[in-house]
Parts: sequence; C-alpha cells; structure tokens
Amino acid sequence: MNKDIFLSNSFGNKKQKFVPISNKQIGIYVCGPTVYDDPHIGNARPLVVFDILYRVLKCNFGENKVTYVRNITDIDDKIIASSIEKKISIEDLTKKITNIFHEDCKYLNCKVPTHEPKATENISLMIEMINKLIDNKFAYVKKNHVYFEVKKFKDYGKLSNKNLDELISGARVEISENKKNPADFVLWKPSVENEPSWESPWGKGRPGWHLECSVMSKKFLGDKFDIHGGGMDLIFPHHENEIAQSRCANKNEVFANYWIHNAFITIASEKMSKSQGNILKIGDFKNKISGQVLRLALISAHYKQPLDWNDKLLSECDKTISKWYESYTDIKKKVLIPEEYLFPLYDDLNTPGYIANLHKLFEKSQKGSIKDKEIFVSACNFIGLLNESKNSWDKFKQTKSKISEDEIKQKITERNNARKNKDYKAADKIRDELFDKGVLIEDKDDKTLWKFK
Ligand SMILES: [Zn+2]
Repeated sequence: MNKDIFLSNSFGNKKQKFVPISNKQIGIYVCGPTVYDDPHIGNARPLVVFDILYRVLKCNFGENKVTYVRNITDIDDKIIASSIEKKISIEDLTKKITNIFHEDCKYLNCKVPTHEPKATENISLMIEMINKLIDNKFAYVKKNHVYFEVKKFKDYGKLSNKNLDELISGARVEISENKKNPADFVLWKPSVENEPSWESPWGKGRPGWHLECSVMSKKFLGDKFDIHGGGMDLIFPHHENEIAQSRCANKNEVFANYWIHNAFITIASEKMSKSQGNILKIGDFKNKISGQVLRLALISAHYKQPLDWNDKLLSECDKTISKWYESYTDIKKKVLIPEEYLFPLYDDLNTPGYIANLHKLFEKSQKGSIKDKEIFVSACNFIGLLNESKNSWDKFKQTKSKISEDEIKQKITERNNARKNKDYKAADKIRDELFDKGVLIEDKDDKTLWKFK
C-alpha cells in the first residue's frame, strides 16, 4: 500500500498530503537551467532536491509511474548576451553548457528525467499557445510584440501573494510603452539582427521566457498535472506567469496541484548568484571532492531552509561519507529498508531527519550482522549516496590525496626508523605530516597500518 506523503505547497503556503490526480501516472515538472554559463552550486540544489522527490515518488507509486520533465532553456536574453561576450555562436554555447550541465548531473548522481525538452524544439507549440491566448482575449498584439494582459486573469498573483492592483500600478515591474499595463508580460517579441528568430504571425521573432514551461509541461503532462517545482526565485514572476498562460490558454481552473520551491544557498548569509559575484561552479569541485560529498552537503539542510555553504560543511560531509564506507558492502539483491527509517522523507522531504536515521543505521551496522550493513547501504543508496563501490571510493580518495602510496610507505619507514632510534619527536612529526595530507596511521602489534581519512 502507498504511504502518505506530505509536501509544503507554496500555493496557499501550507503542508498538505499529496494526493495524485491519478495513481497510474504521477506528473512532475521542474524548471531546468538556462544554458548560458557553467552551472553553480546554487543551481545544484534544486537538481538534488527534486531528484530525491523523484526517488521518493517512484518508491511509493512504482518505478515507472512517475513522469519527470525538466526543460532546457536554450533561447533567452542571457544566452544571447553570453554568446556575444564569449564570442561563440549561440548554438555552440548552448551545446557546450548543456553538456557541462549533464556531466554535473551525473557527478551529483541525479537520475535522468523522463523528458528533457528544449525550448527551441517547441517554438511551433508556443506560437499555437499564443494564438489561443489571443483568441481567448487574454493577449494582445502591439508593434510585433504579443503581451499577456494580466488584469484579464482574476487569479494573477495568487501563488506569490501579490496584489494585482499594486502590480498593475507598476510598483515592481518593467515599464514599456508598448504595454497596456506595466504588469503585462511579453509572450513574443521581435528579434534584432543576428539574433535567433522564428517566423510567426507577428513577424520574425522569439518567445518570451515564461511561455516555454507552459507549453512543454502541457506537451508531456497535459493541461493539469501534479507537481511543479523550482527554486524560490522563480515564484514571481516566472511561475505566476506560467499559471496565467496555462490556465487562460487551456481554460481550466488548475495548472499544477502542488508547487514546491527550494530555498537559496548562501555564502556568509548572502545569496549565491552571478549578480552577487560569489558563485562557486559545480565543475570547480570535480577535481577535489567526490560528488557524493557535495550531494550530502546539498541535502544537509531542509530544502525550505537557506543552506550556508562553507568549507567546514564540506569537510564534515567528507568525513561522514568516509566513515560510512567502513560499513560498505556490495548489495546483490533488493533489500527492504524498514519503513520507520524512510518516514522523514515522506514528511516533506525531511533530509536532515533522514540523515540522522542513516547515522543510527550506521551505528547498528558497525555492531551488527551483514544484513544490518546491507540495510544501511541500501538506505544510503535510496538518496543517491554510497553509489560507488568501496574500491572506487578509496581510489578517488587516493588520487585526490596530496601524496602517493609510495611516498606514504617511504614516510612510514622513516617514522619507524625514528622510533627505533627513540626519536619520538621526529616520529610524531611524520605522523602529523601524513595526517595533514589525509592519511591516518595506526600502530598495530609490530605493524603500521594506514588509510585515507
Ligand atoms: Zn519554468
């Protein structure tokens, strides 16, 4: 029987029991990356958070019962600006960044979504939706632009709790002389020379950013689906506009039933973003830290809470994964994880609660049987951890270590000679040196054993 899953719904701002539209197929749409620059740690958080939600839903409803759609925005003002700045074609830039993004997803051990549509492959569907919005009298054409007229949609602002009158008075939105109202947003706009453009009834141009998610979610999940996710910064205007477009084009009362948003990553309490100039690219970690460690760090706080990123967090996560590998065992068949340990994940993806359970299972596995080890490793695997064998983990630690195996052996010989000569000060110094380079040594009987921390 399925377990009850509770999720914090941003729409209405309350925790609710998740009731799917149909038990047969669950639909989840997450706004994916705009491929204009290398993904950073702030982008990694939603990747991992929604990957865990995907795993939880699959476990509960069935391996093939969840359709996960995550788009790639490959046409946007930021992409055009970045291609000019980097002096490469838009096509080359978007291809390159999409490849990097896929490598980063793999590095973080995220499952591949069921569909990963690209905006530029769905322009004709976007034109179709704009035509519907014009026919339904929610959009108007002005000087080769098409705008969505927000005051025509009575529920505009309900997700973000914004007052429609205030928005119309233009308090926080871009003013344009073409718009009837400052809050209206663009569905189609003309492209200037050398910018990518597509033929349309309103002249050569390109779509506004918000439109693609309305169109691609409809294509794969239908007019109404279960869960829509993304970073908190997308609530307004992006998700508000998606709701407006979809509901007015499809003429229905609901677009997505549950809206799940993750909080930001901060560095010294500042939000990590390109405009703040404090970004850490995912790629910068690849040569130093295992993707598992990054993944554990990303889920160390609840997804609704800001996560402060620092070296201490990473070194603690690194120590935890190293320790957990002491209980590693190859899993040969499916192992049932006792239900009570999974409970935190069903309660609004409480990853810190689940990690606390993993620590408990680890303690048990250290004292217990092989079965306890299997349960512990399966519980780690469930959230994408301990996914590589102990051998490859040790190898990774070794190659990332600042010292080779031969050098370690050499140092141990030197230390043993120092001890023979009763030069304990020199012996201790060598031990400390090795420790600083990530090597732990232990004297057992008349042998010196060593391992990477
Ligand atoms: Zn979107």
